[in-house]
Amino acid sequence: METISIKFDGKDYAARRGSTILAVALESQKLPASFMRVDIPAPYYYKGINDIDESGVCVVEVDGKLVNASNTRIKPGMEVATRSEAVTAARKEALSKILAIHDKDCTSCFRTDNCEFQELLYQYGFTDEAWLPSEEKVALDTSSRVLVRDNNKCIRCRRCVNVCTKIQSVSAIECTGEGLEAVIAPASPSGLDAASCVNCGQCVAVCPVGALFEKDESQDVLAAIADSEKFVIAQVAPAVRATLGEAFEFPLGVDVEKRIPAALRELGFDKVFDAKFGADLTIMEEANEFMERMQNDGVLPMITSCCPGWIKYCEHFYPNMIENLSSCKSPHQMLGAIAKSYYAEQLGIDKENIVVVSIMPCTAKKYERQRDGESGAGVPDVDVVLTVRELARILEKAEVQIEAVPFEAFDAPFGLGTGAGVIFGASGGVMEAALRTAVEKLTKEELKSLEFSDVRGMSGIKEASYTAAGIEIKVAVVSGLGNANSLLQRVSSGEAYYDFIEVMACPGGCINGGGLPYPSAITRAQEDVRAKRASALYSSDTRSKIRKSHENPMIVQLYESYLGEPGSEKAEQLLHTFYAVR
Ligand code: SF4
Ligand code: SF4
Ligand code: SF4
Repeated sequence: METISIKFDGKDYAARRGSTILAVALESQKLPASFMRVDIPAPYYYKGINDIDESGVCVVEVDGKLVNASNTRIKPGMEVATRSEAVTAARKEALSKILAIHDKDCTSCFRTDNCEFQELLYQYGFTDEAWLPSEEKVALDTSSRVLVRDNNKCIRCRRCVNVCTKIQSVSAIECTGEGLEAVIAPASPSGLDAASCVNCGQCVAVCPVGALFEKDESQDVLAAIADSEKFVIAQVAPAVRATLGEAFEFPLGVDVEKRIPAALRELGFDKVFDAKFGADLTIMEEANEFMERMQNDGVLPMITSCCPGWIKYCEHFYPNMIENLSSCKSPHQMLGAIAKSYYAEQLGIDKENIVVVSIMPCTAKKYERQRDGESGAGVPDVDVVLTVRELARILEKAEVQIEAVPFEAFDAPFGLGTGAGVIFGASGGVMEAALRTAVEKLTKEELKSLEFSDVRGMSGIKEASYTAAGIEIKVAVVSGLGNANSLLQRVSSGEAYYDFIEVMACPGGCINGGGLPYPSAITRAQEDVRAKRASALYSSDTRSKIRKSHENPMIVQLYESYLGEPGSEKAEQLLHTFYAVR
């Protein structure tokens, strides 16, 4: 790396040649000494999505002139002033212009504890509330089944537009007009759903303010818990354990699995199950489906179906590939269907009185639970989906202190999941879990190594080839719908061939889901948030006593006593679904 010398506010820095002033400032935030850190506010900036910040706030002074720090590259000997009077005045002026179009009612805003804009307003002395006059307010857009848009809070940063277009290749949300006059709106006048939104929530994850959020279902959960006739079950997705702690000031990547059961019991849930069990069930069915397709000239490549954002994308943009989708429901839907059939029978409880609450890293699961084909036992498999953010808010309001609760285990009989189940939360995890089972079933031999490292990691497209019982299996793993689009174009044109493809809508998989706590844009620029979260899941897998889905004793018992074989008539009825061209 070639470095050059520059000065920030009179202090010497060695910085990478070719960097922007903002990039050097962000890099300096990692320095241990706080006096060496350079703070340049950039409310529109988001690494890889909005690399140029046009808010007017991201300015510094170079040679007596104000310049945009996000698009000015450093030069040898450059002297940058970040705190001069002119810089502060320009930032304040830009912030006041944004504030003039912003409905700043922080006291009632759900982003009040983690709002990037509010932080800047306080930093620059805008401490008083400044509500937008009621005649200037626009109605909230609640037309989506999953997301709400509040344009009164939109600061026109365009992060949502860019993530939806550049990263997700969906373009459901667009920007017309310039600067602060711009209008951010769905690409269809009928709303987000009609604009082919796949509910991935990546726009919510990058929005710096409270202008985009998921429909809150927490009241439904609290009402069910308060109803003595209801038997309320929580199931917790793998990625939740690697991310919930962030909402309670735990460092990135800390696994809080053992704290979750006690916290949920304190809220009043009757049973707390681990959706890893559902993941193991998915692998049993999916590995079986894959082997059947391989051995009986079925439609290949088979493509995974546990990501509802990807499923809706396929239905909209690749209807010709619907037959390639596995018919397996996603893990939480499978576990919900088992809870309302087998488990209801075991307990002697009316399935109508069982309420299944899925706690998920994902916004698209809110849509998935409402789809046709997701009621295996004749009632909805899942009744409520809470994102990790919603759960964190419920815990806070109920004063359940996650850092103080005792370590406890999930409940039997669906509290036991394997290492294969936990890695579902990271891109490549479903493929690796499926291969652990499919390869052993094909070869009838125990795998020497359980790590399929070629499909691990945060790269957007991964490819590998394995041989089992003399059969070559070509696989691909993609995350981020833009990457899925590129890969599927190559598959459709015949340029690439695979037997099995894993697709996750969110870049990096569920550990980067649209329903997770918000690391700030600065944290995202400095740290590989996704890799840290994923490492918590891979460590959990390594520590697990059982690391293959087909060796989960409760899975074995469930098939022996209730489902029969994978792919049986009962399994088809409860655990499989269908798709629609949109
Ligand atoms: S978006 Fe931020 S600044 Fe605006 S009202 Fe909400 S918390 Fe306050
Ligand atoms: S949820 Fe996903 S698809 Fe829908 S607007 Fe947001 S980024 Fe686009
Ligand atoms: S909705 Fe949020 S992300 Fe989109 S432009 Fe407005 S403030 Fe930015």
